[in-house]
Amino acid sequence: MTDNGDDPAVPIVCEACGTETTVPLSEVADQLARHNENRHDGEEHAEVDPGLKSRIQDLAARDIGLLE
Ligand SMILES: [Zn+2]
Repeated sequence: MTDNGDDPAVPIVCEACGTETTVPLSEVADQLARHNENRHDGEEHAEVDPGLKSRIQDLAARDIGLLE
Protein backbone atom coordinates (compact mmCIF):
# COMPACT_ATOMS: atom_id res chain seq x y z
CA MET A 1 0.00 0.00 0.00
CA THR A 2 1.14 3.50 -0.74
CA ASP A 3 1.38 5.88 2.17
CA ASN A 4 -0.62 8.94 1.29
CA GLY A 5 0.22 10.91 4.40
CA ASP A 6 -0.43 14.23 2.74
CA ASP A 7 -3.78 13.16 1.36
CA PRO A 8 -6.03 12.09 4.24
CA ALA A 9 -9.04 9.90 3.50
CA VAL A 10 -12.39 11.62 3.82
CA PRO A 11 -15.68 9.72 4.15
CA ILE A 12 -18.45 10.82 1.84
CA VAL A 13 -22.01 9.58 2.21
CA CYS A 14 -25.09 9.64 0.03
CA GLU A 15 -28.32 9.11 1.90
CA ALA A 16 -30.26 8.93 -1.35
CA CYS A 17 -28.26 5.85 -2.42
CA GLY A 18 -27.42 4.61 1.06
CA THR A 19 -23.75 4.50 0.07
CA GLU A 20 -20.65 5.47 1.98
CA THR A 21 -17.24 5.82 0.36
CA THR A 22 -13.85 6.97 1.50
CA VAL A 23 -11.83 9.03 -0.94
CA PRO A 24 -8.59 11.00 -0.73
CA LEU A 25 -9.11 14.59 0.35
CA SER A 26 -7.78 15.85 -2.98
CA GLU A 27 -10.55 13.96 -4.81
CA VAL A 28 -13.52 14.78 -2.59
CA ALA A 29 -14.89 17.62 -4.71
CA ASP A 30 -14.46 15.60 -7.91
CA GLN A 31 -16.06 12.48 -6.47
CA LEU A 32 -19.03 14.38 -5.06
CA ALA A 33 -19.58 16.22 -8.32
CA ARG A 34 -19.29 13.03 -10.37
CA HIS A 35 -21.62 11.06 -8.14
CA ASN A 36 -24.27 13.74 -8.07
CA GLU A 37 -23.94 14.29 -11.80
CA ASN A 38 -24.14 10.57 -12.69
CA ARG A 39 -26.68 9.44 -10.13
CA HIS A 40 -28.82 12.43 -9.36
CA ASP A 41 -28.83 14.61 -12.47
CA GLY A 42 -26.60 17.13 -10.76
CA GLU A 43 -28.63 17.43 -7.57
CA GLU A 44 -26.46 17.57 -4.46
CA HIS A 45 -27.25 14.41 -2.51
CA ALA A 46 -23.80 13.06 -1.73
CA GLU A 47 -21.82 15.01 0.86
CA VAL A 48 -18.90 14.79 3.22
CA ASP A 49 -19.82 12.64 6.25
CA PRO A 50 -22.00 14.89 8.46
CA GLY A 51 -20.14 13.64 11.53
CA LEU A 52 -16.87 14.81 10.07
CA LYS A 53 -18.38 18.09 9.00
CA SER A 54 -19.61 18.85 12.51
CA ARG A 55 -16.20 17.94 13.86
CA ILE A 56 -14.63 20.42 11.48
CA GLN A 57 -17.18 23.00 12.54
CA ASP A 58 -16.38 22.27 16.20
CA LEU A 59 -12.72 22.82 15.55
CA ALA A 60 -13.42 26.00 13.65
CA ALA A 61 -15.70 27.24 16.42
CA ARG A 62 -13.08 26.47 19.03
CA ASP A 63 -10.55 28.33 16.94
CA ILE A 64 -12.55 31.53 17.13
CA GLY A 65 -13.48 30.98 20.80
CA LEU A 66 -17.18 30.12 20.46
CA LEU A 67 -16.95 27.00 22.61
CA GLU A 68 -14.77 28.37 25.39
ZN1 LIG B 1 -26.29 9.07 -4.47
